[in-house]
Amino acid sequence: MEVAVRAVRTVLDQPALVLNRSWIPVHVTTVRRAVSMVFQEVARVVATDTLQTHEFWDWVSLPLPPSTRWIRCSSRSIPAPEVIQLRIYDRVPAHEAPFTRRNLYQRDNNTCQYCGRRSSPERLSIDHVVPRSRGGRTSWDNCVLACVRCNARKADRTLHEAGLRLLRKPSRPRWSPYLSLAGHERLPSWRRFTPEDLWNAEHSQATGT
Ligand SMILES: [Zn+2]
Repeated sequence: MEVAVRAVRTVLDQPALVLNRSWIPVHVTTVRRAVSMVFQEVARVVATDTLQTHEFWDWVSLPLPPSTRWIRCSSRSIPAPEVIQLRIYDRVPAHEAPFTRRNLYQRDNNTCQYCGRRSSPERLSIDHVVPRSRGGRTSWDNCVLACVRCNARKADRTLHEAGLRLLRKPSRPRWSPYLSLAGHERLPSWRRFTPEDLWNAEHSQATGT
């Protein structure tokens, strides 16, 4: 019984992607919340193979592929939705990406913003473009990733003094579900709604590069 309860929790806590009516990803929620939203008719389940949308009772009676995740209840099993679509919400939420170490590594795509080399996170550090000793702030527009070599070369100097140039002007990235997804499981079925390069493409657009 213990095992069964734990299994139920696992599926319910897994992620589900939320799309708006224009099929744009706006949020990542849990299966638990997704089922509840569909049951309350706030959202419909998107069948990720056919892209048909389904009401709750329609969805639970559909023939589904063997890869389906199931929520096992005492009376019957309910297929766990992987993607749902809101029925009325059309806007993209105006969330701002919080300034965190993890989000900065995501924004700069693990790439040194001076030489353009991509490295493992351990080989990169956060550089203050205007050094802190000169009043530079710890913020989206003054922090970039730098490799060990470029960081040592720049040291406590300005770009001009160090003779270095940035690949692109750092700025606050627009919010994307991928920011909240960093480090979390992504389901293969989400790929057609959230291409792998979505985050970077959005960022390039925002910074005009
Ligand atoms: Zn570098």
